[in-house]
Amino acid sequence: MLPQKARQLLLEFLDEKDYRSSIEDRITYSYDASRESCMPDAVVFPKKVAHVSRILEICNTYRIPIVPRGAGTGLTGGAVPLSNGIVMALKRFDRIIEIDKENFCAVVEPGVITADLQTAVENIGLFYPPDPASMDASTIGGNIAENAGGMRAVKYGVTKDYVMGLEVVLPNGETIHTGSKCVKDVVGYDISRLFVGSEGTLGVITKAILKLVPKPEAKQTLMAFFPDIAIAAKAVPDILLKGIAPTTIEFFDRYCIDATREMMGFPIPTETRAMLLMDVDGRASEIPATIKRLHDVCISHGALAVEIAVDAAAQDQLWRSRRSLHGALNTIRPCWEEEDIAVPIARIPDMIRAFNAIGEDHNVLIVSFGHAGDGNIHVSLAAKHGNTPSKNVTAARHAVLKEAVALEGRIAAEHGIGMVKRNKIGWNIDHGTLSFMKNLKDLLDPHHILNPGKVL
Ligand SMILES: Cc1cc2nc3c(=O)[nH]c(=O)nc-3n(C[C@H](O)[C@H](O)[C@H](O)COP(=O)(O)OP(=O)(O)OC[C@H]3O[C@@H](n4cnc5c(N)ncnc54)[C@H](O)[C@@H]3O)c2cc1C
Repeated sequence: MLPQKARQLLLEFLDEKDYRSSIEDRITYSYDASRESCMPDAVVFPKKVAHVSRILEICNTYRIPIVPRGAGTGLTGGAVPLSNGIVMALKRFDRIIEIDKENFCAVVEPGVITADLQTAVENIGLFYPPDPASMDASTIGGNIAENAGGMRAVKYGVTKDYVMGLEVVLPNGETIHTGSKCVKDVVGYDISRLFVGSEGTLGVITKAILKLVPKPEAKQTLMAFFPDIAIAAKAVPDILLKGIAPTTIEFFDRYCIDATREMMGFPIPTETRAMLLMDVDGRASEIPATIKRLHDVCISHGALAVEIAVDAAAQDQLWRSRRSLHGALNTIRPCWEEEDIAVPIARIPDMIRAFNAIGEDHNVLIVSFGHAGDGNIHVSLAAKHGNTPSKNVTAARHAVLKEAVALEGRIAAEHGIGMVKRNKIGWNIDHGTLSFMKNLKDLLDPHHILNPGKVL
């Protein structure tokens, strides 16, 4: 329950559409895509920065926990109100304020859906590359707060590479502005980066200046089929070493191929045990030569065949299959537990060998797919028999993360730490650095009202 005085103050400027506390609304905003949940006492839908500021001021005064929320597609419980209190849904901040074509940037509010921004800029010949698989639902605010990645990261980088400036409301209600539209800008500390990936724990993002690039003239999609996943993984560093810059290099293991085989609509050689799905983009005249080089590297690494998508519809079909992988795996097992790890690209074959060993040791089915071009592997784990979560799966997850760390990798690549990995953050970050992070949190949010229980 919120303190009565705080509720009264909120209702001075929020009407009943903007302040909700019905059981239906509280349940709706109690969970995210991590499947973790906790009930908020109320949900607020501010429309103006002044509202965000006043709400935070009230929460700070009455020590009410408050959790910013975009679309709730986060996979680590970032938008779950772990300590109850208020969920601040930013869906009404949904304006693309400006697309500045001459200066290659856009000014947007945080509730804009990622794919909507992409469509809007592509319509005028520009391109916003970050493309999390959830982009049809996820918001720009959630992407910035999670430093979301995606498939095009191998060529274009991740969300942090596109944030030029931010407007942020701090936990005490103060509003600050970071960065600018200038490509070169060293005026003061680079505070934008502090908020990118801060998972809603340091401030509420209310506006962003995002970098855009020219839209590539053409794109082509190809698939390389391999008899073994370790062989496929070995081809990846070689592709990059040869200076070929595909937009994406995604890999599917044999379970993922089986789960999406029909959806892909391509005949796949029967001996295939792994697949690389790759896009190249750029000038139309240069694409055939790039495709030829990719083809040759894959064949030299033992690919059974390399196929090219015949037209845009076939390309879309393939990428739709990739984006549906999370759901498609449910045709194999109804309940999976997932990990999101990163290893240096050259260690991907070692990590894949480790999955096999860990699966055997713990009698667990381990399925992997992901962004091979940047070392980010998504790992799904389920009991070999039965459909309920088991201690074996938990132990295998633990072993997967430990192995990633042993291979100089990271326990979180693009889905954040949230609530589900906060106890393991010390596996990657040393004591002194963690203390520095805690001091920063204390400085900005001394009463820990903003998204408590997340990250640290
Ligand atoms: C099927 C599926 C596929 C996915 N694929 C990818 C992928 O390829 N790459 C990837 O990186 N992620 C992926 N994700 C994870 C998720 O979509 C991303 O983390 C996304 O950035 C979350 O955006 P959201 O708007 O849903 O944020 P939410 O889930 O609502 O919130 C995420 C975090 O951001 C904070 N937050 C939200 N808005 C603000 C704001 N305005 N100010 C401050 N903090 C804020 C929240 O407090 C929370 O901590 C996937 C998820 C699903 C379900």
